[in-house]
This record gives sequence, structure tokens and C-alpha cells, in this order.
Amino acid sequence: MAGKNKSVELIALQCSECKRKNYTTKKNRKNTQGKLELKKYCKFDRKHTLHKEAKVK
Ligand SMILES: [Zn+2]
Repeated sequence: MAGKNKSVELIALQCSECKRKNYTTKKNRKNTQGKLELKKYCKFDRKHTLHKEAKVK
């Protein structure tokens, strides 16, 4: 069994308010359509904000 998992992609979750990348997560492209958008706690804004999918670099 080779550990190749092409459909799983590492992404960052970027705060829509301060634009910081606070989280990284994995996304399975096979069962996730479109861009991820999650309400997450941002320690820079000190509140929950909308975090959107961004590239990890
Ligand atoms: Zn923020």
C-alpha cells in the first residue's frame, strides 16, 4: 500500500478581517466542493471571524 493520497490537500485558513493565516487543515477534494469557509477564533482580533481557504506557503 503506497501512501499516496492525491485527493487530500493541505490548506491554510486565512482570517477575513486581519488576513493572517491562523490555521492549517486538510481538505479532501473528492468530498469538498468549492472553497472552505469556517468561523474560527482569531487571537489577533480576539474574536471569532470568518476564515477562508488559502494556499499554504
Ligand atoms: Zn484575524
